[in-house]
Amino acid sequence: MTFMTPARLSDGRELIYFDASEHSAARHRDEAASADQRGLPARGAAGTARFDALSGEWIAVAAHRQSRTHLPPADQCPLCPATPGNLSEIPAADYEVVVFENRFPSFGPDLGELPDSPEWGTTATAYGRCEVVAFDSAHQGSFGSLSPERARTVIDAWAQRTEALSAMPGIKQVFCFENRGADIGVTLLHPHGQIYAYPFIPPRAAALADRAARFHAASGGTKTLMGHILASERSAGDRMVIEGKHFSAFIPFAARWPLEVHLVPHRQVADLAGLTGEERDELTAVYLDLLGRIDALYPTPTPYIAAWQQAPVDPVLRQSGYLHLQLTSPRRAADKLKYLAGSEAAMGAFINDTTPEAVARSLRNALPSASRANAQPAVARPATDRKDQA
Ligand SMILES: [Zn+2]
Repeated sequence: MTFMTPARLSDGRELIYFDASEHSAARHRDEAASADQRGLPARGAAGTARFDALSGEWIAVAAHRQSRTHLPPADQCPLCPATPGNLSEIPAADYEVVVFENRFPSFGPDLGELPDSPEWGTTATAYGRCEVVAFDSAHQGSFGSLSPERARTVIDAWAQRTEALSAMPGIKQVFCFENRGADIGVTLLHPHGQIYAYPFIPPRAAALADRAARFHAASGGTKTLMGHILASERSAGDRMVIEGKHFSAFIPFAARWPLEVHLVPHRQVADLAGLTGEERDELTAVYLDLLGRIDALYPTPTPYIAAWQQAPVDPVLRQSGYLHLQLTSPRRAADKLKYLAGSEAAMGAFINDTTPEAVARSLRNALPSASRANAQPAVARPATDRKDQA
């Protein structure tokens, strides 16, 4: 069970504590009365969004974000619990998981609908909402170093925020993600993720939703595309990494990145909010197992983007949409990163220097790191390496 305690920061931003223990939640209820001592200035207006008539895509113009906090020293971390010397974003003596509105949002805080028929020159308010999820009060680590209990609370927080943000006016897509590692642009080292609630369906989510809807329609509404892919991958076997009861992880047949893993529920569910308690329990174990394997590949932590692909808010698209995680890393060797060059960046045509089957084999054989030796045993078993046995 996860307890929620809402509070407000001094500039009016919403902040919500998520706690597994009633004791911890009770402390936050007391703290909520004393709250943020900083007396922050009123929030600025939302930025703008410009319509790119050439591609049909919306581009957020967030020049105000240039002044945001960039790799602050540990004693000035905005995600550590507040102290007299560091009045951080989190006015609590300690916390488990906390979600709050980003002080420098790319979208929001205003909510509303973008114009229906945009054309060249259309500028709109960058409606929406950007939130920060602090995974733990400890300054070091990332999702993979969380205790199973803490990871489970983060999953509940993602699910609750997905449901709440999807219900806000004008929100078309909710995106929970974690950027890990300075190599891919992380500006705060404290373990955290973000949630973007967009006023449009972003290009990649739109492409996935369109493919899913077409497949679903062609099957007479009886099959989902991801369900078909999952069954095909489990049957082929050579790209599987973990097979559990409710979730499986595999390297996709046509992976774009040197390291790309898809973590997929066995049941069609539109978003994280739709997962049952039992599914969330297994997701916790499988995801921690997967991240442990990824960090066992190289001597140093591997940078990654963990992107939750959820169905858009649109009720029709939710019929064919299928929740899954796409974890990607540009790392192609211990000391080499893939850069998005001409073909990828300019044309969107990916060239992968690794084979998905070899990467899957490495992850299946990766030993869990020493730091995870005390973790709960994973529910899932590693997929059998059918090719190696042949
Ligand atoms: Zn910190």
